[in-house]
Amino acid sequence: MITIKKNKNGRALKDAVEELSGVDISVCFQCKKCSSGCPVAKLAKTRPSEIMRRLHLGAGDKLLASDLIWMCASCETCSARCPMGIDVAAVLDALRRLALERGAATPTGNVPLFNRAFLKTVETFGRTYEIGLITAYKLGTGKLMNDTEKFPAMLKKGKIALLPPRGGDRKTVRRIFKTIKQNKGAKA
Ligand code: SF4
Ligand code: SF4
Repeated sequence: MITIKKNKNGRALKDAVEELSGVDISVCFQCKKCSSGCPVAKLAKTRPSEIMRRLHLGAGDKLLASDLIWMCASCETCSARCPMGIDVAAVLDALRRLALERGAATPTGNVPLFNRAFLKTVETFGRTYEIGLITAYKLGTGKLMNDTEKFPAMLKKGKIALLPPRGGDRKTVRRIFKTIKQNKGAKA
């Protein structure tokens, strides 16, 4: 059963999510197809359809502490399955961003660290660069030697590349990151 406490920030949170994601939360009719296809829904305490419902009914910033926000793998299955064409993954992205901006409680563990390391490599190289991501993540956790035995097999199978990717439009990607940072500064 979903219990929702109306909050005076509720309207503001829904508006902020709609603005960031471009999604009209109110068109969700709770068919739950997003949740039934979500690969992490069974592991999380909250499901994507529940997030949509809570937003619609005016849940406030407490929603930003939902574990799904950080467990979401951005696979976009929920968006692809939604009969209303709602980009649920974009809603989760928006909530993740708002959780960071508003200093919401982040889960214990290293998911936020992974998120930061991933975004930093995209900002630097214009695309994902696994070795850069792994290095930044390991430096953050301090566990430099964890899982290193898997490296040779991954390299051999071409799962990771030693050199940074080429061909990505780095200038454009950096400009996007710069604009986001400037917009954040303007709003602060
Ligand atoms: S699939 Fe779409 S309409 Fe159905 S519950 Fe999820 S977001 Fe709402
Ligand atoms: S994008 Fe996130 S919420 Fe949507 S199906 Fe994938 S893991 Fe679940």
